[in-house]
Amino acid sequence: MEQTITEHKRLIGAFDNSPTSPTLIVIGGVHGNEPAGVQALETVVAKLEKDVNALDGNFFAIVGNLQALREGKRYLSRDLNRIWTGDKTRIVENGLEDAEYVDPEMREHYELYDCLKNIIDTHTGPFYFIDLHTVSSESAPFVIINDMLINRELATKLPVPIILGIEEYVDGSLLSRVNKLGYVGIGFESGRHDDPASVSRHEAFVWLMLKHTGCLSRDFPLDVDRQNEILRSEFEQGFFELKHRHKIAEEESFHMNPGYVNFQEVTKGEQLARNEKGDVIAPRSGRIFMPLYQSSGEDGFFIIRKVPRFALQLSSTLRKINFEAMLTLLPGVRRDPEKHYQLIVDLRIAKFLALDLFHLLGYRQRTRMENYLLFTRREFDVRAKK
Ligand SMILES: [Zn+2]
Repeated sequence: MEQTITEHKRLIGAFDNSPTSPTLIVIGGVHGNEPAGVQALETVVAKLEKDVNALDGNFFAIVGNLQALREGKRYLSRDLNRIWTGDKTRIVENGLEDAEYVDPEMREHYELYDCLKNIIDTHTGPFYFIDLHTVSSESAPFVIINDMLINRELATKLPVPIILGIEEYVDGSLLSRVNKLGYVGIGFESGRHDDPASVSRHEAFVWLMLKHTGCLSRDFPLDVDRQNEILRSEFEQGFFELKHRHKIAEEESFHMNPGYVNFQEVTKGEQLARNEKGDVIAPRSGRIFMPLYQSSGEDGFFIIRKVPRFALQLSSTLRKINFEAMLTLLPGVRRDPEKHYQLIVDLRIAKFLALDLFHLLGYRQRTRMENYLLFTRREFDVRAKK
């Protein structure tokens, strides 16, 4: 079958109304094999262009990985959603001329960084970043966020399940960078890569975000109920937490057993996949999350579990009253003298302390050394950067 090659531009649309109004920045196609987000953005932009009074705030629709999108591949040399780490960002900040080696994704990273920086430098905020994705298995739509209260607040406006805790497993995502800078940033996964409904859900999501961030004009006739209906699935809403990740090793030949649907219940001991060593089994019960049904990707699957409502409430209250300051009163817990957002936990003394307590207070486990665990929290959690 002949394929039509569509040429895309980095900036699908730019609606720049006022430097002091809310600014929504939506990125699609950070993974080149996920064109649904880009298609949805093109449709929304085309509709907005017909109505000069549609927006009160600012809206930028941006393509993530242009070169990979052109080839329909997740990435060409490396995953663009894993390279937003401090050292790589320093390279792009200094300009690519000084870089020793420039691969396709370094170039994408550089251009995207430049584009985002330009927007941030010329507006006062508040800024809202959205990253649109699709998955390789059948799936209900969901939002995925780093667990910061500012992200939770925006995410709960959508009628979809919300997945917390990705930052403990995945480094260098675009949204982690955005969050680190102190801005709200949430990811939306609309469904299977090639499902036409994934495009409609992305569209509905962008419309609702324009509305909820105050970017859309009050007079714009948006049927919010209808958009919510498009996003609603049979799968229950609420917050879920990542509890286990099967990271695919360098030489592992990983094959997911066929037929798993995102959020499907699995029981401890169930055979989920196969690799060269034999069966890969579920180490705990819960729901399977993002089972891998494509050749590239480094996560085989995750297991998630529902976060009880009282835990969410409690964590929100404790963070607002800065309860975490009390953690260092516990035996075996001290603050890193150089990094105030980091706690050093001596496991010989504090082994009774549950991981969940740190999660409640917004800390995530970063590193494990022989006798110590390092927990870090984000500088901006309760309030976004001003
Ligand atoms: Zn993706």
